[in-house]
Amino acid sequence: MTDRLAELEASLAALRAKIATACAAADRDPAEITLVAVTKTFPVSDIKLLSQLGVTDIGENRDSEAAPKAAACAAAGLTVRWHFVGQLQVNKVPSVAGYADMVHSVDRLRLAEALGRRSGAAGRVISCLIQVSLDDPGQSAGRGGAGRGGAAPAEVGDLAAAIAAHDGLRLAGVMGIAPLGEPARPAYAQLRQIAETIRAAYPSAQVISAGMSGDMGSAIAEGATHVRIGTALLGGRPPFLR
Ligand SMILES: *Cc1c(COP(=O)(O)O)cnc(C)c1O
Repeated sequence: MTDRLAELEASLAALRAKIATACAAADRDPAEITLVAVTKTFPVSDIKLLSQLGVTDIGENRDSEAAPKAAACAAAGLTVRWHFVGQLQVNKVPSVAGYADMVHSVDRLRLAEALGRRSGAAGRVISCLIQVSLDDPGQSAGRGGAGRGGAAPAEVGDLAAAIAAHDGLRLAGVMGIAPLGEPARPAYAQLRQIAETIRAAYPSAQVISAGMSGDMGSAIAEGATHVRIGTALLGGRPPFLR
């Protein structure tokens, strides 16, 4: 066993134990939680090791990094479900639509329409999550605040309808990032409420993507079905490469 495999195996075991503890506290079944390993800044060799350990949901936040990794994994015969979790520009859609299985960051109509056209033309179906801005409106400088993206809660209904209307898209649920420097739990409680409204209208929209290394417990307490974990699984990143 390589040192890196042993390292990842140990951090995965610790992470699974944390997920189990958070689930027990929330009276939930750990089988309801999908672990998305966010591998940004880490090499394809780590994705191969994670897949040996049974982790095949892989998240990336930049197309310029994700596209070559997806190509390398495909060439190596790895079966990976690619989750695009970062802010997405329309000019990157032709590339992202070629490999992403789930886009967590659909936050505006123009993006949904571009994804739907590309995905449909390629004969693919991309699962879409509506990224909701959870910033305190008093604190954020305009929509999305702090550059994290996300639709305002009032825009979510129109976006859901636009996604649901496209053959190349599947409305799978919602995603949120807790605001920095504030307790995460109230933000995730707000996300859960929005998720429930969307689920009532679109029963396929069951996903709540919430929770990162630092706030996973709060997210699981508020119904997260997908946690996006980088640091706690793969280790630290240089601070300028968030
Ligand atoms: C990097 C990233 C994560 C993972 O963050 P960690 O704190 O390292 O777990 C989750 N979600 C998004 C959108 C990210 O960009």
